[in-house]
Amino acid sequence: MSATAFQDFPTHALMDITARPDVVFVEGEGSWLIDHAGKRYLDFVQGWAVNSLGHCPPVVIEALNAQARRLITPSPAYWNDQALSLAQMLATHSCFDQVFFCSTGAEANEGAIKLARKWGRQRRNGAYEIVTFDGAFHGRTIATMSASGKPGWDSMFAPQVAGFPKAVVNDIESVERLITDKTAAVMIEPVQGESGVVPANLEFLRALRALTRARECLFIVDEVQTGMGRTGTLFAYEHFARDPSDEPDIMTLGKGIGAGVPLAALCAKKSVALFEHGEQGGTYNGNPLMCVVGCAVMRALLERGFLKSVADKGRYLGTRLSVLTRELGLSHERGWGLLRALDLGADTAADVVGYCRDRLEKDPGWEGQGLLLNAPRQNLLRFMPALNVSSAEIDRMMDGLTIAIRAVCR
Ligand code: PLP
Repeated sequence: MSATAFQDFPTHALMDITARPDVVFVEGEGSWLIDHAGKRYLDFVQGWAVNSLGHCPPVVIEALNAQARRLITPSPAYWNDQALSLAQMLATHSCFDQVFFCSTGAEANEGAIKLARKWGRQRRNGAYEIVTFDGAFHGRTIATMSASGKPGWDSMFAPQVAGFPKAVVNDIESVERLITDKTAAVMIEPVQGESGVVPANLEFLRALRALTRARECLFIVDEVQTGMGRTGTLFAYEHFARDPSDEPDIMTLGKGIGAGVPLAALCAKKSVALFEHGEQGGTYNGNPLMCVVGCAVMRALLERGFLKSVADKGRYLGTRLSVLTRELGLSHERGWGLLRALDLGADTAADVVGYCRDRLEKDPGWEGQGLLLNAPRQNLLRFMPALNVSSAEIDRMMDGLTIAIRAVCR
């Protein structure tokens, strides 16, 4: 069978919203993606930390096939068994009591913002502001862009939604200064993903929880990127919540919960789950075809030893990146679990990503193969492999990465 040439694909019909390389992906399996020409790529991007179990995992294929034959959607206006099962699993294995399902992380965060504003109106004299952070990324709807602290986003599509003053991560006084009687909540990513894997300190996160409790406002964690095992615990808040007084009031999930299908969740303690009928909804919320996948993902993560293996492999990847940093005189590596970044100490990240994807195949041992990495900053590479990535795959990625950095810096 002859492969289709890139030029033969009708690329003009898709909106040009990002710079895409001349590669069309047609298949995936585990840690590997295959393009239109049959070239194989070791994938350490995994749909931006989305494919928690790798490409096309058998448990997801089976769940989707079986559910598609049973029921695709009855409408969110009726109960369905898969949404009920998934909500129950999330409530059992987290500190939250109730869940609202939706399709994207931004939608889950919109829900969190609405819930905090409702809570502020009812319980805090009309408070509506939500303190968020410089560098934060909460999504691409107008409200979640306003909540984000991404440089330039305050003027893009202006005017913004009002009410999101920005504090500085790991600077508790910067938060203290912004909390007033208008504040309904503080919202934070335990590790800022899109801004380049910037973890908040555990002490800072505990201080933030204590501060929000003392000042009687809500504490929201955006775990769209860090949740569902990514950091080596089921949810990243488990790293800082030593007892119930440290627990957040609201958590949002996305990405990994759907293992590649559009599923996200807004989780809340009962005391703040204040929506009344008609205030929250959406055509696809709690769709059983997506929720059945969420159930399969939860079961996989809860299998004995799975989360420990994520933590172990995160440590292994971190150690290998640290050794490489010393060997090649790079800046440093950082991250939690299998959400890691390597600071190259120079603005060569895009060149390294390009080399790994397009030119590595000319190096010994990589014939016909490439490596997919992400560069969220000019000096930074981000690693977000499947949670079931093997140590051998990490070794192979390190081999390709080392070749590419050497070649680019030559
Ligand atoms: N929140 C965080 C922390 C994210 O990393 C992202 C996406 O990268 C989002 C929210 C938005 O999720 P989605 O793209 O599914 O709307």
